[in-house]
Amino acid sequence: MNTLDARALQLQANLQQVTDRIQRATAAAGRNQQPTLIVVSKFHPALDVIRLRTLGVADVGENRDQEAAAKALAVSDPALRWHFIGQLQKNKAKSVVQYAHSVHSLDRASVITALGKAMLTQQEATGRAALECYVQVDLSETGPRSAEIEAAGPGARGGAAPADVLQLADLIASTSGLTLAGVMAVAPLGGDAGAAFELLTGISASLVQQHPQASGISAGMSHDLEQAIAAGATHLRVGSDILGPRPAVG
Ligand SMILES: *Cc1c(COP(=O)(O)O)cnc(C)c1O
Repeated sequence: MNTLDARALQLQANLQQVTDRIQRATAAAGRNQQPTLIVVSKFHPALDVIRLRTLGVADVGENRDQEAAAKALAVSDPALRWHFIGQLQKNKAKSVVQYAHSVHSLDRASVITALGKAMLTQQEATGRAALECYVQVDLSETGPRSAEIEAAGPGARGGAAPADVLQLADLIASTSGLTLAGVMAVAPLGGDAGAAFELLTGISASLVQQHPQASGISAGMSHDLEQAIAAGATHLRVGSDILGPRPAVG
């Protein structure tokens, strides 16, 4: 292994702190298995992703196609799994299936259909594995809402209404090239993250009754990963506590 530069040493220390927190929260929740850590690299350069690889990170998350596609090309490591976690437009489907292992942010039928179509072409060309898909749930109705969120209206952070989750899940499960992995959510701003994640766990439980293999729960970020682990998250998406602060926009 190459000697680590100063930035890599900093990432290593941050990563260690986060994995310690995950370990403690997993033990406190009485769970045997730690959730998968997805390191969210948005706004940080491809070189940081390469440093994270050297440190053993296997899963990274991105929320913009243009940035993710460029980084995936620059890093060019087939063993690295790219998770797409941002709002997705139909016209980005062709690009996303070229690098993404999974998409966590599906909340509309039109995007699911577009991904299925894009996967047909991609699988024919490359034989790639199915795309793992999560239905993003809007939890903004749970708990008190900040004035900012009130002004932005429902679904400001994306996500399907809880009542629509099963229908979208059925569509994913019946689309060739896509695998239904589970549900994803972002805790509402200013709300009680623990209560929101418990609601997500309940939605997951009813989804699993219909789709037993779709037991994934993608929840928890830098500031609420402990609550997510307590509620049963299987995948965490952690950015700033590992890579440092990023511009407030985005
Ligand atoms: C940016 C982002 C994260 C990571 O958030 P941090 O607070 O930096 O840990 C997680 N999930 C989504 C959907 C994001 O956009």
